[in-house]
Amino acid sequence: MIRERFLQILQAGERGEDLPSDDLVFLLATPDEEEAEALFRAADRVRQRSVGDEVHLRGIVEFSNICSQNCLYCGLRRDNHRLLRYRMTGEEIIASVKEVKARGLRTVVLQSGEDPWFTKERLSDLILRIKEETGLTITLSVGERSETEYRVWKKSGADRYLLKQETSSENLFAKLRPGRSLTERLDSLKALRRLGYEVGSGNMVGLPGQSEKDLIRDIQLFRESNFDMIGVGPFIPHPQTPLAKAAPGDLRLTLKVLAITRMVTRDTNLPATTASGVLNPEGRRKALLAGANVIMPDITPQKYREHYEIYPGKTKLDGGLDSVIRLISSLRRKVSQSPGYRRSLLESGKRSPCD
Ligand code: SAM
Ligand code: SF4
Repeated sequence: MIRERFLQILQAGERGEDLPSDDLVFLLATPDEEEAEALFRAADRVRQRSVGDEVHLRGIVEFSNICSQNCLYCGLRRDNHRLLRYRMTGEEIIASVKEVKARGLRTVVLQSGEDPWFTKERLSDLILRIKEETGLTITLSVGERSETEYRVWKKSGADRYLLKQETSSENLFAKLRPGRSLTERLDSLKALRRLGYEVGSGNMVGLPGQSEKDLIRDIQLFRESNFDMIGVGPFIPHPQTPLAKAAPGDLRLTLKVLAITRMVTRDTNLPATTASGVLNPEGRRKALLAGANVIMPDITPQKYREHYEIYPGKTKLDGGLDSVIRLISSLRRKVSQSPGYRRSLLESGKRSPCD
């Protein structure tokens, strides 16, 4: 039986009213299956009205697993000496990006550890070549770099940048990313916005030491920051990290954070994250039914893919493009043929559907 207050909050949320934090807590904290399902259905309706039935595919090329950072949660961290490190050559990267295009995708996500070998100039040359030879929309996800680098890469043709806040708790952030601070991260996100990137952020759900209040703060930060894309995924412990023995994030809690995020951010692009699919074979399907409208299939060459082990199980996910397309049509949704800019950017005229 769904409680009256729960229903009222859902209805207000669906109408687009600004829900106060008490209401967000009430939604997130529900222990009741029926209420959680009602939340997911409400988020799905908001998704349908705000961004439609199209699912945007972004092909991800993981071009280097070398990282100078030591994030406690991540298998690519500097101190994981068991990981076989690789860095794709320029030619290999270009060939993979062409593969993304050949498979009919309109956006490539270039992702890596914070690898200093890819200097401002080297990455800039690659971006120029990719634009010239493929015309694809380019998303960078290469970590925290200097404002000068962001500027040069934007000028060279990068369109989007993904940099998750990871958590909006300053203490937790500082513990989990030694030597870095949440303030610097948020400053980077602001700089990216100023420079004209479409900006993506996001969090991990179920980080050790994370409270329900922290998750509510994450959602509030998503709302205030007006991000264009937000990745909400569960934390998955990696055996070669200091968090090896921590419990994984809970899928249901992750879906609730995702659904509330859809409700409060309306037309933001929200991926059904790979981590949700790794945690549970039904994870991405459930996410697509709880507000998500993006999937990021992995197009990294097979010989490198297994070494991009952020968390275990990632390479075993049935993430082939065909299975992703089958999943989308099984939900009677459509694969988008556009580059997938956020709807409000298109309406404001800042982007054209043909960009
Ligand atoms: N180095 C860049 C950065 O940190 O932004 C991009 C690559 S990083 C591997 C991409 C994302 O992986 C991070 O933003 C983080 O949210 C996610 N990630 C890392 N370790 C994870 C884990 N153990 N479980 C779930 N997600 C994880
Ligand atoms: Fe490096 Fe990114 Fe992993 Fe941190 S999350 S260790 S910056 S790859």
